[in-house]
Amino acid sequence: KITLFWFRRDLRLEDNTGLFYALQQEKNVLPLFIFDRTILDKLEDKADARVEFIHSQLIEIKSQLEKKGSTLLIKYGKPEEIYVALLNEYDIQAVYTNRDYEPYAKERDAKIETILKEKGISLFSFKDQLIFEPGEILNGSGDFYKVFTPFSRNWLDKYHHTKVQTLEAPNWKNLHFVDSLKAISLKEMGFEETNIQIPPKVADQDIIRHYDKTRNYPAQNGTSRLGIHLRFGTISIRKLVQIAASLNETYLNELIWREFYMMILAYNPQVVERAFKPAYDQIPWRNNTEDFQAWCEGNTGYPIVDAGMRELNATGYMHNRVRMVVASFLTKHLLIDWKWGEAYFAKKLLDFELASNNGGWQWAAGTGTDAQPYFRVFNPDSQTEKFDKELKYIKKWIPELGTSKYPKPIVDHKFARVRAIETYKQALNQ
Ligand code: FAD
Repeated sequence: KITLFWFRRDLRLEDNTGLFYALQQEKNVLPLFIFDRTILDKLEDKADARVEFIHSQLIEIKSQLEKKGSTLLIKYGKPEEIYVALLNEYDIQAVYTNRDYEPYAKERDAKIETILKEKGISLFSFKDQLIFEPGEILNGSGDFYKVFTPFSRNWLDKYHHTKVQTLEAPNWKNLHFVDSLKAISLKEMGFEETNIQIPPKVADQDIIRHYDKTRNYPAQNGTSRLGIHLRFGTISIRKLVQIAASLNETYLNELIWREFYMMILAYNPQVVERAFKPAYDQIPWRNNTEDFQAWCEGNTGYPIVDAGMRELNATGYMHNRVRMVVASFLTKHLLIDWKWGEAYFAKKLLDFELASNNGGWQWAAGTGTDAQPYFRVFNPDSQTEKFDKELKYIKKWIPELGTSKYPKPIVDHKFARVRAIETYKQALNQ
């Protein structure tokens, strides 16, 4: 009999809760990863750096496991079908995994649990990707928090009263010892290699230590660039939070935002389609496709917006300050539905995370959990003046700035500001 440990968004061998307990409690543990066609088939661009990144991490994990005498089973297909096949192929004792809180993941796991249960097999799941998972931080009435500040206060209080520790090395002796298995290649799944660089998997202590002073300036190397590693679990959140707690409160606060948005999504799965504040679904977006195209390509004539979009298109990354500016510009200046921008980011961002992306977009559009009034519209020029005064960031991405090749502003700022406020006001007064 074997026990499966099912990797999903926790692609590391060290400090991996589910893997640790599988190896502590069971014998013959065989690790598994499924390239899920339900997700992959929806990706239009087959040169996807995230798929490539996952693949490379799996090859690395597989080779480490092979050094220990085991291997990694890598499957490609729909999870339910894969499990049915695995049940035929192996005599399975139990399945261990780490919990995933996204709506699709919860539905998938429920289906797999049913398939396993029919055969009398248990699915054991563990908390791993968060310090506190949805339901652990609740307000005085036992309900979820709708605003961030009290959530973060409660989070910090609980953190300081809980011993959050990283795990020691697992009991590798309980791995299932087998010959190496062949891994599927990117090409066999219809994907291609890209030339996009993945930021290193290191929590740079210097950056984190000075984070509160540097994080708002896109021309500086002042943020950790760990988004993709948190997304796929190539680093452990417990380890990172320990570093953050000892070095920089502001940085820790950002990690709490991550948990806040995951909690919001878990309690409000409807936000994927709709505004967190339902009244805001009434906004009559202009949704002009030419304007949207200009925004996507970085040709709006607003340098800070265009620099951000060009950075995103070229690297799969955009600085947080600039994400806020481009998102505000799309929703307020151009009156384009935040869901269009959200979907574009989802395609392009290496660190795409459904909960944070949705939260960030709804924040910018003023439709989300934030108490900020909708009539605050970011002024791209004053954002530039504050955060990229010397135009270093902008010039890096717009070499033709100041020449006739650079487009004229797509819309006048003052006009757009008044139009946005009027549109929101009318929609909300209905
Ligand atoms: P750092 O500034 O070094 O922060 C460290 C980590 O904290 C991040 O990697 C991230 O996991 C977390 N974090 C930081 N800020 C936030 C935040 N505001 N909300 C939630 N978590 C945060 N973040 C994503 O991880 N995925 C997304 O898809 C995403 N989409 C966004 C869309 C919009 C419109 C906006 C305004 C923000 C979005 N963010 C998203 C939040 C933030 O911009 C990124 O987390 C950050 O820029 C990633 O760079 P970094 O790794 O250097 O982060």
